[in-house]
Amino acid sequence: MAPPARFCPQCGAALAQPDACAEPGCGWMAYRDPKLAVVVLVRDDQQRLLTIRRNHEPAMFEWSWPSGFVDAGERVEDAAAREVREETGVEAQIEQLLGVWSATGDPVVVIAYRASAVGGELRPGPEATAAAWTTIRRRPAPVFPHDEAILRADLETDLETDPSRTSD
Ligand SMILES: [Zn+2]
Repeated sequence: MAPPARFCPQCGAALAQPDACAEPGCGWMAYRDPKLAVVVLVRDDQQRLLTIRRNHEPAMFEWSWPSGFVDAGERVEDAAAREVREETGVEAQIEQLLGVWSATGDPVVVIAYRASAVGGELRPGPEATAAAWTTIRRRPAPVFPHDEAILRADLETDLETDPSRTSD
């Protein structure tokens, strides 16, 4: 991260605080942008969920779903498919937006998608120590704040599209 600015980039006045200029008539402010993350619930043709074992913080060594940050200029759905490919080797077709999750004070905004596996080969990438297909019943315990809500949204989507399907 860059060191805090000492002078206003707009008017050149010395800054009393690094993210706002108090000079009358200037009004410069540094905006801290939110960080966009994608989470992808990928199903195979047996309705199993694609899970990975993380090899980096946060939640090192915990099981989770493929996820990662969206690059600037990258289409969000493309970022979702890329994270799945990089972490698991699986080619995913992004099918549906499950929702957007955020929390006060947390710079990360999570966008969750539902996807289907359409190809590739299950093989953990450099950001995962393992990748596996798990049934809903044997799913890993949620590690991130929004995980349970994301999974619930996914299950509710199931019930809407096929009321006869149970949530196992
Ligand atoms: Zn200024």
